[in-house]
Amino acid sequence: MDSRDVPAPVRRKDVAVLVPAAGMGVRLGGGTPKALRELAGEPLLVHACRRLAMAPSVAMIVIAAPPGDVDAVRALVPGAVVVPGGATRQQSVAAALAVVPESIEVVLVHDAARALTPPELVEAVAAAVRSGAAAVVPALPVVDTIKRVDAGEHVLETVDRAPLRVIQTPQGFPRATLVRAHAEAVDEHTDDAGMVERLGHKVHCVPGSDLALKITRPLDLLIAESLLAAHPLPVSRS
Ligand code: C5P
Repeated sequence: MDSRDVPAPVRRKDVAVLVPAAGMGVRLGGGTPKALRELAGEPLLVHACRRLAMAPSVAMIVIAAPPGDVDAVRALVPGAVVVPGGATRQQSVAAALAVVPESIEVVLVHDAARALTPPELVEAVAAAVRSGAAAVVPALPVVDTIKRVDAGEHVLETVDRAPLRVIQTPQGFPRATLVRAHAEAVDEHTDDAGMVERLGHKVHCVPGSDLALKITRPLDLLIAESLLAAHPLPVSRS
C-alpha cells in the first residue's frame, strides 16, 4: 500500500470541557483567587485552557466565571465560551453544561487549579468515554501511609492503601449521562463522577499524571514552576 493511502489520524472534535472557576472571592486584579493565581506570570486558568485547547478532541471550552467577571475572563481566554457561574460549584458546572450543543457527545469537567494537565490526559479520558464508560476519572496510587483517627487525633487503624486512589481531573462523561446526573442530583458533590456514581453507574479509572497536580498551596506553586520549566509547550502551539 502506498503511504499516501494511509488515512490521516482522526481529529475528532466531539469534546466540550467545562471549567468551573466561579468560586467566591474570585476578584480579577485583587486577592489571590485560585483560578487566577499566577504561575510564571499567567493565571492558572490561562495555563489550563491552553493545554485543553491543544488536545485534538476538544471542540469547545466553557468557563463558568464569577458573574461580575465574565467579560474580564472572556478577555483572558478569548477562545473559550464564558458563562456566569452559580452559587455552588455544582450550579456553575450546570450553567456551563447548559450551553453545550447536543452535537457534542463527550463532556469533560476540569479544575483550573490543575493548570499543567497535559493534552494527552485529556485525550485518554475522552477515549475511555468513547469506549463506553459512563464516567472516567484520572487516578494515581496513594504513596503515603494512611491512618484513620478519632476526634482527638488518636489513631484508630492503619488503612490498606492498595485499593485507594487519588482522583484528578479532567473527569469525562457521555453528555447525556452528565445532564441526567445534574438533573437528578439531590445534594452537593465535590466532583461530578460522584454524582454519576450515585446514579448507579460504574466509574472507570485511567492512569493520572503528576503534571495534573492541583496547585493550591505555596509549595504546589514551587513544584509547578519546576514542572513548567521541565515540560515547556511546543513554541508554535503555545
Ligand atoms: O471552593 P472550592 O475550592 O470547592 O471550588 C472548587 C472549584 O469550583 C473552583 O475552581 C471554584 O472556582 C469552582 N466554583 C464555582 N462556582 C462556585 C463555587 C466554586 O465554579 N459557586
